Amino acid sequence: CGIVGYIGPNPAAPILINGLKKLEYRGYDSAGIAVIEDNEIRITKSVGKIANLEEKLAGVVLNAAAGIGHTRWATHGKPSDENAHPHYDCTGKFAVVHNGIIENYLELKEELIAEGHTFRSETDTEVLAHLLEKYYDGDLLEAVIKLQKRLHGSYAVAFLAANEPGRIVAVRKDSPLVVGLGEGENFLASDIPAILAHTRKTYILEDGEIAELTANTVKIYDMDGNPVAKEIYEVTWNA
Ligand code: GLU
Repeated sequence: CGIVGYIGPNPAAPILINGLKKLEYRGYDSAGIAVIEDNEIRITKSVGKIANLEEKLAGVVLNAAAGIGHTRWATHGKPSDENAHPHYDCTGKFAVVHNGIIENYLELKEELIAEGHTFRSETDTEVLAHLLEKYYDGDLLEAVIKLQKRLHGSYAVAFLAANEPGRIVAVRKDSPLVVGLGEGENFLASDIPAILAHTRKTYILEDGEIAELTANTVKIYDMDGNPVAKEIYEVTWNA
């Protein structure tokens, strides 16, 4: 239902939580975040209110400078801790948040199970984490280009790879996704209000476009990986 992302010099977790709170008005049944800490993915998620997630995070020191967060409105699989996003692969090296529906997920899930992947949730989303594990060969962007070609349905998705703590890659089709451009930090969100406290400069992604965020750069590519020259959309209204 809602997606946020942050990469920069500040601790990501509180920025993600605040961003998710700005998206609460859209409704949701569970929430979660993933950050990269010491080249490991750390996931915290909970069914129910963002306050439950904050309780789980209380006392946990997370200095991670990159992370993604999600509020879920269940379409496939009941609201539960297991089905809450972020989802991860078998190795725990990749994390994903997703809005929308992967329509061919059953077919992809069967293929991945036949190849030895084990699934933990009932969601359509989890195939994205395993597909990333399958296609990853040291470069998150390259893997996402390959992965997107396998998908049918509607999606806004953000990915983290533990081995690349300085990078977030995101992609969308038929579900909104916006990049917020900061100074030495960058943001991602499904909806502008989530990033308005930080910046008014945005890139509005079009269908099939892939965004690659580092703290200091944002690059946009088409679905074949060709660079796209994007115009900055300056937000003039207040949420
Ligand atoms: N289809 C996904 C799920 O049920 C994502 C739902 C959403 O957009 O929040 O987990």
